[in-house]
Amino acid sequence: MTNASGVPQERSVHSEIPGPRSQDLMERKTAAVARGVGTTMPVFADRADRGVLADVDGNRLIDLGAGIAVTSVGGAAPRVVAAVRDQLERFTHTCFMVTPYEAYVEVCEKLNALTPGDFPKKSALFTSGAEAVENAVKVARAYTKRQAVVVLDHAYHGRTNLTMAMTAKNVPYKDGFGPFSPEVYRVAGSYPLRDGLSGAQAARRTIEQITRQVGPGNTACVVIEPIAGEGGFIVPADGFLPAVVDWCRANGIVFVADEVQTGFARTGAWFASELFGIVPDVVTTAKGMAGGLPLSGVTGRAEIMDASGPGGLGGTYGGNPLACAAALAAIETYEADGLIAKAQVIEDLLVQRLRAAQAGDSRIGDVRGRGAMIAMELVDPATGDPDAALANQVAGLARGRGVITLTCGSYGNVLRFLPPLTIDEALLAEGIDIILAGLAEIGAAA
Ligand SMILES: *Cc1c(COP(=O)(O)O)cnc(C)c1O
Repeated sequence: MTNASGVPQERSVHSEIPGPRSQDLMERKTAAVARGVGTTMPVFADRADRGVLADVDGNRLIDLGAGIAVTSVGGAAPRVVAAVRDQLERFTHTCFMVTPYEAYVEVCEKLNALTPGDFPKKSALFTSGAEAVENAVKVARAYTKRQAVVVLDHAYHGRTNLTMAMTAKNVPYKDGFGPFSPEVYRVAGSYPLRDGLSGAQAARRTIEQITRQVGPGNTACVVIEPIAGEGGFIVPADGFLPAVVDWCRANGIVFVADEVQTGFARTGAWFASELFGIVPDVVTTAKGMAGGLPLSGVTGRAEIMDASGPGGLGGTYGGNPLACAAALAAIETYEADGLIAKAQVIEDLLVQRLRAAQAGDSRIGDVRGRGAMIAMELVDPATGDPDAALANQVAGLARGRGVITLTCGSYGNVLRFLPPLTIDEALLAEGIDIILAGLAEIGAAA
């Protein structure tokens, strides 16, 4: 079956991976691109759409990464391609802060309508997820006239200076890059596999730590990923998030849900906050929002979003017209093609196969996630300790067989699956079966 970019929806590996052209390009990359910009797979992309990425050697890989939860509608979704092409011919940029255009306003209207909460909302658009998080902190500080920012263990919020301070993991994100922004405080969250606490117990611990170490009267905002992404697809215990949100509200603290990874249908709802029954004051969005074009948003209660004076928020490229056109087309695609329901189908398929494997393999310590954001955490069966080496081995085998496979987690021992929501189910099943076969083989060899 073909589609907008003409990529047949089948895996096909006929060279070694990486193939000769990718190897040549990798040499040029190593010579020309800063070492800090790493790559998961040394395979260069040629075309991509739906569940398949075609590389420059003509191999077709099953995509279980979607460019880290970005191309949820596919890498060349027809509506996105058409909308961007149309906008491209009209103009590429005016700077919204100089001469505005309708698409920016329309994206904000969509964000205001789609994010949880039926109170008056406003939005602002930026380019990257980190920039959205930074601006959420800016409005929270301006609104509360407080300074402290509270984040959780295992958090990932980006790579700019403020968001590095907010991100938990040192290597590779922070190592050598200090000093970091002040007034960022890290407290424990909820990680059922490793802390064994109920949601209520974990929330009590979180609130106690904020109260004792920061003081609610100093706290501008608590910033939480409803499901931690890079940190390991950690789903908090039931009741954790509502208790923290309630406490924030009682103490005049802005609750920010960082939905950069979990947003836009990824978890089987428009936003993961809905799955936990919480209504954040502010939501940050990016990755899945614009079909692969760089766009991010901050959406929140109108009075919070309006706390900054005119000119306090923005950026030359923020809300670029091509990206806004893409976002409107992507949102239409989520709606018209039933992709929220499809995320739930993907969850059923992945969880069923992973749980079946877990029943016979005690190295699979946990299977978790929601929608098309599913992970398995690999552990040493004797101790329960994280087994990052095993996760890397399995990912390496799967990649060599033509499956784009990502790892994550504070301990690097989590295999995470983030397929495009438009992937064919048979292709998804093939991809996950290749990964599980690799895991089984490694066990057999040991
Ligand atoms: C990816 C991510 C970010 C950072 O987004 P960039 O576009 O890479 O700056 C922030 N928060 C979360 C939860 C993310 O997953």
